[in-house]
Amino acid sequence: MKICCIGCGYVGLVAATCLSDMGNDVICIDVDKNKINNLKKGIIPIYEPGLKDMLDRNTREKRIAFSTKIKEGIQNSEVIFIAVGTPPDVNNCADISAIISVAENIGQYMNGYKVIVNKSTAPVGTLEKIGKVIKSFQNKRIKYDLVSNPEFMREGEAIKDFTNPDRIVIGLQSEKAKRIMTSIYSGLARTDKPIMFTDIRSAELIKYASNAMLATRISFMNEMAQLCEKVGGDIKAIAKGIGLDSRIGPRFLQAGAGYGGSCFPKDVKALAEIMKANGIEAKILTAVDEVNELQKRSLIEKIKKLVPVLKGKNIAIWGLAFKPKTDDMREAPSILIIQQLQELGAKIKAFDPEAQETAKKILQDVTYCDDPYFAVKGCDALVIVTEWNEFRDLDLKKVKRLIKHPNIIDGRNIYEPYEMEKLGFNYICVGRKY
Ligand code: NAD
Repeated sequence: MKICCIGCGYVGLVAATCLSDMGNDVICIDVDKNKINNLKKGIIPIYEPGLKDMLDRNTREKRIAFSTKIKEGIQNSEVIFIAVGTPPDVNNCADISAIISVAENIGQYMNGYKVIVNKSTAPVGTLEKIGKVIKSFQNKRIKYDLVSNPEFMREGEAIKDFTNPDRIVIGLQSEKAKRIMTSIYSGLARTDKPIMFTDIRSAELIKYASNAMLATRISFMNEMAQLCEKVGGDIKAIAKGIGLDSRIGPRFLQAGAGYGGSCFPKDVKALAEIMKANGIEAKILTAVDEVNELQKRSLIEKIKKLVPVLKGKNIAIWGLAFKPKTDDMREAPSILIIQQLQELGAKIKAFDPEAQETAKKILQDVTYCDDPYFAVKGCDALVIVTEWNEFRDLDLKKVKRLIKHPNIIDGRNIYEPYEMEKLGFNYICVGRKY
C-alpha cells in the first residue's frame, strides 16, 4: 500500500515507521523543514525506545522517505494518515487548525480516489469538517473516503502499542474504505485484540472517553491518597486491594504527582468543553482536572514539610519528562514544581535520563546534571518527579553520603518508606505512612 503520513511527531513518526515495517511504502510529510532534514539524515527528533533501529532499517530498505512536499505525498499515495498536533486553544478546546490546513491541501492536490484517515485526537464532528473542507478545495469532483482511526499509543511504549494494540478503532461509512483499512491492519489484529469498526462519531468519542477514563482513575487515586495522608492508610495497599477486583483491574491505580503529558490534560479539558458546548455540565471531568492541579501543587507542601524555608536552598530534582521512557516535557508536573521552587528562592539541580535537552528550552536557571548522584551533591532535599526505572536501582547509601540533608520527597512512590527510614532518610511520599 502506498501511504502518506502527514505530521512527523510522536504519533506520526511511530505510525509511519511501523506501517513501513509492515511492508507498506510510506512517505512522511511535515511542515518543519529542520525536522525533515534531520530525519533524512537518520536523526530522530524524539526519544522513543526501538524507533531508531526500526526507522534505520526501513530507510535502508527504501520503504520510508521524508519530505516537506505535501503535494507529492498526497498524489503518490492511496491512503493519507493525518497525525498533526491538536494543542489546546485559549479556551481549552482542541485547536484543529493544522488538520484543516492539511484538509485544504488534500482537496487542492488530490489526483484520484484516496482514503483519508484522521489519527489526530479531535472533537466529535471533525472528520465531517475535514470532508467539507476537502470538497470545497477540490477543482473537480474526485471521490474519497473518510476514516477516523484514533491512536492509543503510549509514549515510551509506542512501537509495542502500535504493533500489538489492545484494539484498533476505525470509524467509517464506506465498504471500500473498510476493505482498505482491513488490509492495512489485519496483520496486527488478534482474536482478543480486534479491529473494532464503528461509526465515525463514536470513533472520535472513544479516543476522548478513553483518555478521560484513565485520567479519572489517576485523579481518584490521588484523592484517595490525600485521604490516606489524613487518616492513615497506605495507597499502595488500597490500589492492590481494589485492583484485585476483576471489575476494577490493577492498572492505572498509582497515586503520584499528578498526570501530565501532551494528551491527558488537554483531552480532559477538551472533552469537558465539548460537553459544555452541548449543554452538559462536565462535573466529573472538571473535578478530575481540579484534583490533578491540586496534586501537582501538593508536592510543594510536602517539600516545605522537610525544608520549611526554601530561599537559598539547593533542591535536586530527579525526573523531568512527564513520564518515564520519553523526552516529552509537555505539561510535565516537573515544570510547575520547579517554577514554584524557583519562585520561593530555591536553586535547582536536575537530572533526567532523556528529557534534559527538551527541558532546557522550557526551564531556565536550572543546573542540568549528567548523572543523578551529581544532582544530589550538596543539596538540601531530593524531589523525585518521574519514576524512571533506573532511579529504583540507585545506590541510596551513596545518595545519603552526597546529599547535604537526607530529605527525599518522592512524588512517585518508588521506594519503601520503612527502608528509607532504615537508611536514615527523612522520606515523604504520596498517600503512604511517613
Ligand atoms: P507532535 O506535536 O509531536 O507532532 C505533530 C507534528 O505535526 C509536528 O511535527 C508538526 O510540525 C506537524 N505539523 C503541524 N502542522 C502540520 C501541517 N499543516 N502539515 C504537516 N505537518 C504538520 O504531536 P503528537 O504528539 O504526535 O500528536 C499528534 C496527534 O495525536 C494529537 O492530536 C495528539 O493528541 C494525538 N495523540 C498523541 C499521542 C502521544 O502520545 N503523543 C497519543 C495518541 C494520540
